[in-house]
Amino acid sequence: MSCANRDAARPAVEPELETGVSIASLMEQVLRKLGEDPGREGLLKTPERVEKALRYLISGYQVDLKKIVNGAMFTVKYDEMVIVKDIEFFSLCEHHMLPFFGKMHVAYLPRHKVVGLSKIPRVVDMFARRLQLQERLTQEVAQSLQQVLDPLGVGVVCQARHFCMMMRGVEKQHSGAVTSAMLGAFRDRKETRDEFLGLLRMDSTPGF
Ligand SMILES: [Zn+2]
Repeated sequence: MSCANRDAARPAVEPELETGVSIASLMEQVLRKLGEDPGREGLLKTPERVEKALRYLISGYQVDLKKIVNGAMFTVKYDEMVIVKDIEFFSLCEHHMLPFFGKMHVAYLPRHKVVGLSKIPRVVDMFARRLQLQERLTQEVAQSLQQVLDPLGVGVVCQARHFCMMMRGVEKQHSGAVTSAMLGAFRDRKETRDEFLGLLRMDSTPGF
């Protein structure tokens, strides 16, 4: 299934629930259920702030991939690997709605088109600002670039830490998860994959 189809299948995030109850007023109830007093000074505006924050953090559903790349695609003869490393991202895990965050490294092998380098982090944000799984986020970034650029291949490596592991559950502060997606030449040709992974190792951030 292509990314476009999957996006279309997803429910739109509506500003108001069917009942007409706002997220903010539901958050007020959540605070009460948690034993808090939503009327105390520090919490007065919290439900509205939470609603605003959540809307921003999942605003990626509304972003149109074509609008990001339109006007920034160029026909070139360049046929060497293009890599954008260390793209910071922040996402929310769909199981706990807690943040996971880290770095993504994106590479592609142009066939006849390249895209403005600054567009690649915007594609990452588009998929990170959703309720996500790290595995799916990695795949979606790779597949969407494959779709719009039609390159010989795309490679994506994602390193992340998950608050749901750090703050609760196993409470492991230093364990990170690494996922990757290799398409086209990155999957079929060992030399291409090795070149990409070798370039990533060149100055990997110590201690990540
Ligand atoms: Zn989680």
